[in-house]
Amino acid sequence: MESSSIIRKTAVDLRVAPNLIDYEGERASFSWPVVGRELAGLPGGGINIAWEAVGRHARGALRDKVAYRFLARGTPAYSVTYERLAELAGRFCSVLRQLHVGKGERVFILAGRIPELYVAVLGSLQHGAVVSPLFSAFGPEPIATRVNLGEGSVLVTTDALYERKVAKWRDRMPTLKHVLLVADDGGTTAVPGTLDLATLMAQTPSACEVAPTSAEDMALLHFTSGTTGTPKGAVHVHGAVATHWATGRYALDLHTDDIYWCTADPGWVTGTSYGIVAPLLHGVTSVVDREEFDAERWYGILQDEKVSVWYTAPTAVRMLMKAGSDIVKKYTLSGLRFVASVGEPLNPEAVWWGKEVLGLPIHDNWWQTETGGIMIANTPAFDIKPGSMGRPLPGIEAAIVQRQEDGSIKVVKTPGKEGELALKRGWPSMFRGYLNNEERYRKSFAGEWYLTGDLAQRDADGYYWFVGRADDVIKSAGHLIGPFEVESALMEHPAVAEAGVIGKPDPVVGEVVKAFVSLKMGFEESEALRMELLGHARKRLGAAVAPKEIAFLPSLPRTRSGKIMRRLLKARELGLPEGDTSTLEGGA
Ligand code: AMP
Repeated sequence: MESSSIIRKTAVDLRVAPNLIDYEGERASFSWPVVGRELAGLPGGGINIAWEAVGRHARGALRDKVAYRFLARGTPAYSVTYERLAELAGRFCSVLRQLHVGKGERVFILAGRIPELYVAVLGSLQHGAVVSPLFSAFGPEPIATRVNLGEGSVLVTTDALYERKVAKWRDRMPTLKHVLLVADDGGTTAVPGTLDLATLMAQTPSACEVAPTSAEDMALLHFTSGTTGTPKGAVHVHGAVATHWATGRYALDLHTDDIYWCTADPGWVTGTSYGIVAPLLHGVTSVVDREEFDAERWYGILQDEKVSVWYTAPTAVRMLMKAGSDIVKKYTLSGLRFVASVGEPLNPEAVWWGKEVLGLPIHDNWWQTETGGIMIANTPAFDIKPGSMGRPLPGIEAAIVQRQEDGSIKVVKTPGKEGELALKRGWPSMFRGYLNNEERYRKSFAGEWYLTGDLAQRDADGYYWFVGRADDVIKSAGHLIGPFEVESALMEHPAVAEAGVIGKPDPVVGEVVKAFVSLKMGFEESEALRMELLGHARKRLGAAVAPKEIAFLPSLPRTRSGKIMRRLLKARELGLPEGDTSTLEGGA
């Protein structure tokens, strides 16, 4: 568990005074109600994320400050000030009011990292609607599943994505009342059954009274994957904003003059909590790049935009490592002062690579869709043990626990002992439910502890070390993928009798999705059929979720109760011991 070496921080590592200096002291004196006082609150009472993030700044000292610099290949950067962002969000809010979208109704957004996405998120929150950004690399099936689970009333998307992924599936999303289209070429759209967003925005006023939401009103819906069944809609509330403020301060060390770049897509929770809410709360300037990963481009952005705080992901770091250290030498990254990463295990070599090549170690931190914000982190002032996720932030109580047969849990006190990572209830951004799945929500708690589903260890110094997932979900390039969703799509192909899906370790993206299928009578395995199945899955699920590899098996191992034993498929794939196979159908 312990890495042999520790990265000791010195004054040279700290170009500005960190927000968190006295770890124990701050933890001891911390209180969420005190953090709440850092927020403005609505003038008439209540709390609304959009008001905290932009509304109040647009009327204050930060009015003319750039909130976002939107970058895209082939066009000049588009800068939006806090005042302009508030105006655009207000117009979007007015559009929803004119369309008679009610408070609490669900607005889904399917778009790449375009300005309209950010405006629609903020405008929906201002209106009091619940917003759910979807990853634009999803295929039609994951999109329809989520819109239906969330009973989406409004979908905001682009004309190209609509045509490719929504139009043919529209009648399978019966709750959708309005589809608002953004023209990919920047003009207007005229697609039957849809409305043109630019036209609507031009015709509506920017003044739109902020909905008087309370801390417990639902604000965001983020879908996450489990081992079985459909994706789970994690419900987040407006009061979560207190966690975004505190973690932006402690874990990302945001100072008002920072230029900040969160590379995550808002289709995943990091891109919303830390690509939208936290940086705006702290009044910093954020960079948003529309393009996909490209090592030269990324170093160019860090240099040209003078990024000072960079929040990225282990897969991206490993891709930069793969691109070689020579490229970096062409760029001046002197503005960069803090680098953090999240979403999957960050290997010690990546932390060291940062130190050697960027001149700054990478600070791993941990959280998940359900927690709504960063819970465990390495922060600027403290030594890093490469390979560790860091320590719980002020306001967060973590523990390693073991589940007992009677459903209770035992807190493991001994350092270095493995168990499930648990968090004590009570932080503001904790999810408030899985949409329409009260039982699954209840099962995530044991008394006052939320059980994360991750296995971890805690060392004698209070640092946490990730061990693995307790379930079968797959983490590929930082994205959580439910094997069941992939298996279901494969099963829809006429040749497939059964499908089992696993995460196969990969040195760059962490895990790749690998499927095992057995065929129905009358179908023969062949390379052509394998390619056809890969294509079928990609078309339905999209590139982000579809398997990269498919292997044929005569039959799949199942438990006596009929469940596919993914664990066994994985052990066999990796040549590992098969473990307990006593429940295997036909087994001992
Ligand atoms: P998501 O809900 O999609 O954000 O995924 C959350 C899951 O990603 C966690 O439960 C972990 O399994 C994994 N994860 C997040 N951060 C880390 C990290 N720093 N190290 C290891 N795994 C992580």
